Amino acid sequence: MKIICIGRNYADHAAEMNAEVPSAPVFFMKPDTALLKDDVFYFPGFTNEIHYECELVVKIDRVGKHIDYAFAHKYYTSVGLGIDFTARDLQAICKAKGLPWEMAKSFDQSAVVSKEWLSITPETLTTLSFEFYQNKVLKQQGNPSMMLYNVDQIIAYISQFITLKSGDLIFTGTPAGVGPIARGDELVGTLNGQEMYRITIK
Ligand code: MG
Repeated sequence: MKIICIGRNYADHAAEMNAEVPSAPVFFMKPDTALLKDDVFYFPGFTNEIHYECELVVKIDRVGKHIDYAFAHKYYTSVGLGIDFTARDLQAICKAKGLPWEMAKSFDQSAVVSKEWLSITPETLTTLSFEFYQNKVLKQQGNPSMMLYNVDQIIAYISQFITLKSGDLIFTGTPAGVGPIARGDELVGTLNGQEMYRITIK
């Protein structure tokens, strides 16, 4: 499986990053080794600044390429909640040099994905809302209507370049409110009020 992530998919987050709103979806990838295996994240030694980015995660359950927008909804039936951990200091260095951000995004444990998944249809997808708490303080809130590119547009766009396969995960971007994590933090994500993950930082 592979993990495809969308960047700058919420206008309020693009603004807080002083980034332009993109004219097409921006995507990058994390390898399967990026998946966090349990509920503890160990702060790695190669960075001093890791940000949380809470995101809706769509699971692909059919193989497809060149998927037409009108049929994109047939390629997923469930959604989870995740965190796209980002080494913001390394990303800033890469951006300043005009280099890819891979090292800042694809490192081990950088992809949190909830164990639970909610069944969705294209209709119920639009009714979802999620929240992210750091040490019980609400930091991020989002819903699919805030996305610049909706899930079907993302699937149609990505599949022009990359064949999607059953089990692939798409991180759909983060709303405003990203910030740094520290050892001792407890990170909780909720989807429609239901706790989806609880991660401790060590
Ligand atoms: Mg992200």
